[in-house]
Amino acid sequence: MIELSVGPPADGIAYRVVALGAHSDDLEIGAGGTLLRLVAEHPRTQVHWVVLSAVGERRAEAESSVRALLGPCAAALHLHAMRDGFVPGDWAGAKEVLLGVAREVRPDIVLAPSTADLHQDHRALAELAWQAFRGALILEYEIPKWDGDVGRPSVYVPLTDEVVTAKVEHLHRHFVSQVGKPWFDEELFRSVLRLRGVECGSRYAEAFFARKLVLGW
Ligand SMILES: [Zn+2]
Repeated sequence: MIELSVGPPADGIAYRVVALGAHSDDLEIGAGGTLLRLVAEHPRTQVHWVVLSAVGERRAEAESSVRALLGPCAAALHLHAMRDGFVPGDWAGAKEVLLGVAREVRPDIVLAPSTADLHQDHRALAELAWQAFRGALILEYEIPKWDGDVGRPSVYVPLTDEVVTAKVEHLHRHFVSQVGKPWFDEELFRSVLRLRGVECGSRYAEAFFARKLVLGW
């Protein structure tokens, strides 16, 4: 299969990424391996990190996770205290958060939940991402869950065994509050990555939904 490159960053220097999560661990679960690859291969990347619902210990977990995951590539950390499970009820507040980030940075790439995600907070954030960040490449990540909304993605990022191990260890080290939950385990995380790897001719991969791509050749 032909591999497509994202191309050079718009300013010719560094990719500007906006990473959007409804909850503290969403981005790490959906795109942790991709982010590890991105900052390793493009160390000047600048990531603006946004979490809508990061309260109490979950806020502290988000802070430690981002520092460890991105290091100097973390350009800004926007952690908000919206109520978990009730983001659609504060649609205007969530939209103001995203518009504020859009005024601060014009990203090349936006990582967002999928508009097909059945968790109400994820889906609301996904829809708002398309409103706030017109012109960016929006890659929608996937999060396995009870709702059973695993779909058919269109973009794959192959990952090495080392990156997969680093992602799984990172999740367990930085999101201790989630470790007791029945879905939060190494087997699930590796299974999703293995499945997506098979689909793209790799051992492991993360996958995304891209509703719109512009080819530059
Ligand atoms: Zn979530």
